[in-house]
Amino acid sequence: MHSKINIAIDGHSSCGKGTLARELAHELGYTFIDSGSMYRAVALYFLENEIISQNKNQVAQALSQIQLEFVKNEHSGRFEIYLNNKSVEKRIREMDVAAVVSDVAALSVVRKTLVQMQQKLGAQKGVVMDGRDIGTVVFPQAELKIFMTADAEIRAERRYKELVATGSDITLNAVLSNLKSRDEIDSNRADSPLTLTADYRLLNNSHISQKEQLQIALQWVKEIQNPDQIA
Ligand code: C5P
Repeated sequence: MHSKINIAIDGHSSCGKGTLARELAHELGYTFIDSGSMYRAVALYFLENEIISQNKNQVAQALSQIQLEFVKNEHSGRFEIYLNNKSVEKRIREMDVAAVVSDVAALSVVRKTLVQMQQKLGAQKGVVMDGRDIGTVVFPQAELKIFMTADAEIRAERRYKELVATGSDITLNAVLSNLKSRDEIDSNRADSPLTLTADYRLLNNSHISQKEQLQIALQWVKEIQNPDQIA
């Protein structure tokens, strides 16, 4: 039995970080945490309560009113995010939330609050967390850091199909421009921007399957847990 490690998966928007994180956690018996869902839930609260991001007092007051929890859905077996005791797992994926989330996530006070929660969730190890700053800020000591990316057009096409399957009448162009704009904000914000540092292993999944990417990541876990067996 290997001692548990933490795995950080960061990268561009809509490149399947969550899918890989969930599958890895399943294979390893670890806990999967979607940090983006926490930023999305805060953004949803801001939308619903007409919180102005520039109004510092309003933002601080709003954050004190927000309670986030991950609760297991007994039907699907998956954890869902609850905002003030209500599941918002589906609602936070809609485009109005996607349109504002990166601006909300650029606020330092929001990041500070959520990073603290995330660090608590990972304190016992055995966590696979995906996001933008997990390997740089949340778990800088994570034993495995993966940076995921894929061509923007391929990412948009995949996300578009997912949204259409859930009944959305969005266009492919709107999805593409949203993900490009989120990448731009996430990579250039002052506080903990998305950054590919030398300690990440790069995974470009433009032309590989979900199964292949899982095999690659599992191989990396093996290498870290059995450093003596590397040829
Ligand atoms: O991962 P997902 O695309 O759901 O994240 C939504 C948004 O939340 C990102 O575009 C980014 O602005 C923000 N985010 C972040 N840091 C994280 C996770 C997400 O800034 N660790």
